[in-house]
Amino acid sequence: MEKIRTRFAPSPTGFLHIGNFRTALFAYLIARAEHGTLALRIEDTDEKRYVGEAEEALFRILDWSGLKFDEGPGIGGEYGPYVQSQRQAIYDKYRDEILAKGGAYHCFCSPERLEKMRAEQQANKQAPRYDRHCRDLYPEEVEERIKAGEKYVIRQKMPLDGEVVAHDELRGDIKFQASELEDHVLIKSSGMPTYQFAVVVDDHLMEITHVVRGEDWIPSFPKNILLYKSFGWDVPKFVHPPLILNKGGGKLSKRQGDVAVEDYRDKGYLTEALINFCALLGWHPKGDNEILTLKELEETFDYKNIGTSPAVFDIDKLDYFNGYYIRQKPLGELVELCRPFLEKNLALTDNPRKQSKDFITKVVELEQERLKKLSEIGELTRFFFVDKLDAAKVLLLLPWKKLTAEQARENLKLIVGLMEKIPEVNWTNDSLEEGIMDYLKKNELRVGEYLWPMRVALTGEKASPGPFDVAEVLGKAESLERIKALTI
Ligand code: GLU
Repeated sequence: MEKIRTRFAPSPTGFLHIGNFRTALFAYLIARAEHGTLALRIEDTDEKRYVGEAEEALFRILDWSGLKFDEGPGIGGEYGPYVQSQRQAIYDKYRDEILAKGGAYHCFCSPERLEKMRAEQQANKQAPRYDRHCRDLYPEEVEERIKAGEKYVIRQKMPLDGEVVAHDELRGDIKFQASELEDHVLIKSSGMPTYQFAVVVDDHLMEITHVVRGEDWIPSFPKNILLYKSFGWDVPKFVHPPLILNKGGGKLSKRQGDVAVEDYRDKGYLTEALINFCALLGWHPKGDNEILTLKELEETFDYKNIGTSPAVFDIDKLDYFNGYYIRQKPLGELVELCRPFLEKNLALTDNPRKQSKDFITKVVELEQERLKKLSEIGELTRFFFVDKLDAAKVLLLLPWKKLTAEQARENLKLIVGLMEKIPEVNWTNDSLEEGIMDYLKKNELRVGEYLWPMRVALTGEKASPGPFDVAEVLGKAESLERIKALTI
């Protein structure tokens, strides 16, 4: 059986697009499903787009994502270098080869001429396309003009008529009319290759068997196929996962903050959730169970089941997965993941007890069940860390149904009495519940009229974990202090 080799080939643009992450995941899963190899290749030949620090940022976010590459920059491998800007000598060699094979030609057209040509095409309502002005220059003329120092690009020599058939693993044969294809640039005047040239040379030399890239690359597909043919190389398999649209049917947009994987990380999504969610963008497992870890995906993923209709990005589903994976996390790990989101709360207090790992762990444990995003932990648990609650806010929340603030404060006196009876050593959620609930039931008192004000007095919040849980974590002294502040 053929040994599968896939690659992820991002351009360092400053952030990792969620759609590209999905592509990376599919490339990873295709490789893993067959014990193949996944390479990381940095496509940084677009000088205009290339942002210096972006490469570092890319490595950081890929590292965070948990996808492991077998080959790539900093990892090694037999097919390097894995950064396109370090492969110039290779591109030069294959530039000469494609010229010799007649698959490409020199074009000396100046930017001004091209501009004028485009303007005329526009005025005549023609598609903007290079008019092949330099396609048939005599070799002697080409040589002379190069010697004279004229600037040039190298263009791909496209067929003038007929059809180009490109085979996509998901869509079958896709037909393109040659008349629609432009003699586009393969090598820029700087000598650097364009994507269209570098991608074919690199995928061939790196022996990639399955090229996985987004559907938006289908327009490049015939150009790539023709280039493989001109070189006389075998064409790898191509897999173009479908577009990802938002719920409204539009493109995901950077402005709406929904494209960068970094944003999802910073909002407190877990990699497990993001991986599970992205795997289902265009692919579906055979059974009904959609909760799949990376390991389970590796075992079940079959790229033949990737669909071709656009995938819908449903953030509620991502939240659901995130909540699920947060609940599954071992508490110790969850505490560490939450820590950066608790920094602001920790800065609210100098109380060493509240700075301790033990306290933070108890706080996180109380929220684990209902946490959807790690970033919510700060807001949700602020009340634990403040030394004093906002008295006005607490007062405002005290009334409950028919219970007035005045009566609530009376009821709290009773609660204080019951709490004081519980010894410090026995200060647990269970004994608090037992001590308070037994009394309320025995005396046929309305439970809510005591527990609501108790909870509000302890938290100053409309919604929070139950009062006994909160009291246990706050400890006897601080719980009594908070409630007593309302009974004086
Ligand atoms: N560098 C291209 C991008 O970032 C990669 C396309 C491909 O995978 O061939 O979109």
